[in-house]
Amino acid sequence: VKEIGRNSYLFFSKDMQIRTSRALKIDSALREALQKQQLYLHYQPQVNIEHQKLIGVEALLRWEHPELGMISPAEFIPQAEANGLIIPIGEWVLKTALNQLRQWIDDGYEPIVMAINLSTAQFRHENLNNMVSQVLHEVQLPPEYLELELTESMAMTDPEKVIGVLDKLHAQGVRIAIDDFGTGYSSLSYLKKFNIDKLKIDQSFVRDIATDAGDRAIVTTIIQMATILGFNTIAEGVETSSQLDFLRENGCHEYQGYKFSKPIPPDTLAEKYLQKNSG
Ligand code: C2E
Ligand code: CA
Ligand code: CA
Ligand code: CA
Repeated sequence: VKEIGRNSYLFFSKDMQIRTSRALKIDSALREALQKQQLYLHYQPQVNIEHQKLIGVEALLRWEHPELGMISPAEFIPQAEANGLIIPIGEWVLKTALNQLRQWIDDGYEPIVMAINLSTAQFRHENLNNMVSQVLHEVQLPPEYLELELTESMAMTDPEKVIGVLDKLHAQGVRIAIDDFGTGYSSLSYLKKFNIDKLKIDQSFVRDIATDAGDRAIVTTIIQMATILGFNTIAEGVETSSQLDFLRENGCHEYQGYKFSKPIPPDTLAEKYLQKNSG
């Protein structure tokens, strides 16, 4: 520690201080974010690769703070997990996204699937199943319009318990997708026992598909395995035509990424991508 020297020590401690004070600021600001209506959702299309048809959208949380500006969910979600605010925030996301879908249907658009991210704390919360069924009932939507995304690492932590949680959610008809797939060391024997519909191939494998033979092997293996187990596949973070071509040639069902669209506000999404009901 002595060798570090006085200056670098001071630098280090100052850096720590800045980080801690930002974390503290975000923590207290987050407590008011919901009431002050600073949170909102953007929606990113999920598209069938073969027909380029919109299947659904993923709801992604956005936070604009009057002084701190835009704060990424990658920064504030972990903090909301730590201080427990993720429970009310997660419930707000579910309600807001499903109300949006209800609104689109009432406006005469063809229904699509609404994909929602679940946090670890939400997934472990004993009231999850009730909360979901209550919200679906409130908005009067059939459960198959809702898809819950949980990450592979969440699924593989205490998988015996996860089997039970997924069975209950599935029993009410809700769809389940495993997010960030390929990053979380899945046990194949558990994967087989999980009541899930879809594997979401992590964007880290999609990024270098054109140049990295290892990533290509991982992606084709995931697609083949999913096909054998009867799951759908969706690739995330698709930005280029060559990535899309590779995925199509290898039998991936759906994709999501800047190539088709960034996450966008609900009105833009409806205008650009939703189909009006013909009947
Ligand atoms: P995620 O669920 O893996 O979401 C995908 C992220 O990739 C999103 O970042 C999305 O905007 C971004 N993305 C989409 N297409 C592309 C692309 O073509 N290229 C690149 N480079 N990125 C792309 P975002 O919106 O910043 O969200 C980050 C993470 O925050 C999410 O990762 C998710 O873990 C979490 N998150 C976002 N909204 C919620 C929420 O409502 N609840 C929970 N629990 N977590 C959320
Ligand atoms: Ca996700
Ligand atoms: Ca993901
Ligand atoms: Ca790589």
